[in-house]
Amino acid sequence: MSFDLAARLAKQQVNHLFRSRLSLQSPQAPVVKINGQSYLAFCSNDYLGLANHPKLIGALQQGAKLWGVGSGASHLVIGHSEPHHQLEKALAQWLNRPRVLLFSTGYMANLAAMTCLLSNQDTVLQDRLNHASLLDGALLSGARFLRYQHNNVQNLQQRLARSQGDILIATDGVFSMDGDLAQLADMSQLAKRYNALLMVDDAHGMGVLGNRGAGTVEYYHLTVQDVPILIGTLGKAFGTSGAFIAGSNDLIETLIQFARPYIYTTGQPPAIASATLQSLQLIIEEGWRRNHLKQLIQLFKTEAKALDLPIMNSPTPIQPLLIGDSDQALAFANALKEQHILVSAIRPPTVPKDSARLRITLSAAHTQDHIEQLVKALAKCWQRFKR
Ligand SMILES: *Cc1c(COP(=O)(O)O)cnc(C)c1O
Repeated sequence: MSFDLAARLAKQQVNHLFRSRLSLQSPQAPVVKINGQSYLAFCSNDYLGLANHPKLIGALQQGAKLWGVGSGASHLVIGHSEPHHQLEKALAQWLNRPRVLLFSTGYMANLAAMTCLLSNQDTVLQDRLNHASLLDGALLSGARFLRYQHNNVQNLQQRLARSQGDILIATDGVFSMDGDLAQLADMSQLAKRYNALLMVDDAHGMGVLGNRGAGTVEYYHLTVQDVPILIGTLGKAFGTSGAFIAGSNDLIETLIQFARPYIYTTGQPPAIASATLQSLQLIIEEGWRRNHLKQLIQLFKTEAKALDLPIMNSPTPIQPLLIGDSDQALAFANALKEQHILVSAIRPPTVPKDSARLRITLSAAHTQDHIEQLVKALAKCWQRFKR
């Protein structure tokens, strides 16, 4: 690191790693407006198409009328209100867990769980491809930190055998840049055998996987005994904002008492919780969103395979195309953009070196015709990029 910021920024440019933001002139939807132009977008995590749903907008407006805008304080002071409480209860019931605690972001929920449960006497084991917030939480906790090979249960077992103190195993449920699922059934058995605690960050599975949309844990038919700590985020399939930790009463009470990222931050606006309650209702009642999404995923995979596109082994709405070089991934994304298709090029350090990719995400708001348009554009660009 250096205080020579200009040099740092220049290097980022040279390495094709420079990131810039798009500024949307429309809400989240399959078709978005940027600089006055329309684009068909495949990069949002709004997997169920709820972020701009009229019922959520209505619930937010109604919530703001009843509860105002700001929460005013942290949850432990005077920032915890009835919609927060109702949402925690509704989520707990939906997930078949004793209790749920709301957070303002998933990033903070992960920091909270790690720093609250781990000390420098303990060990935390993590998949090499875990989300940055799980890595950062582990570093902040001061625990001994070991990574195991991606989705390699045997490698996890070797690490477990060498671990000391209390052991936490932390994993994404659905890996955010690859779209594959953690081997939770095997992992929960291993965790029990080694008396370790299993924590699953299901940011991308929640709302999407499982018969009732209750996520990767439901997909594998596991319980709170199998996965004692479950993290969900609300900014993705839920279409709102925030996150939660779900588990035993003791877990939640411990977080309330000791988790600094919970205690020392302002509560999320109560109207957001009102909107999320509405979103939960739609997730429960409108299973057609998940079914439609499944069909789109199947359609995309079939057509991409027929074109020999470098798709990965993902059963989820995250459908990456592995490119390799950052400059190639960026050029591919730009070529798609010229055809008014928006896909993000994901580059290191978000993904490992030489594994830059196009991260295509599908949503229940897409139509079959949208998928056809995407595939057509990919086929056209792929001719220019395949080696
Ligand atoms: C998005 C994400 C987070 C962070 O959640 P925010 O609510 O956006 O802070 C945490 N973990 C995973 C796996 C994620 O994909």
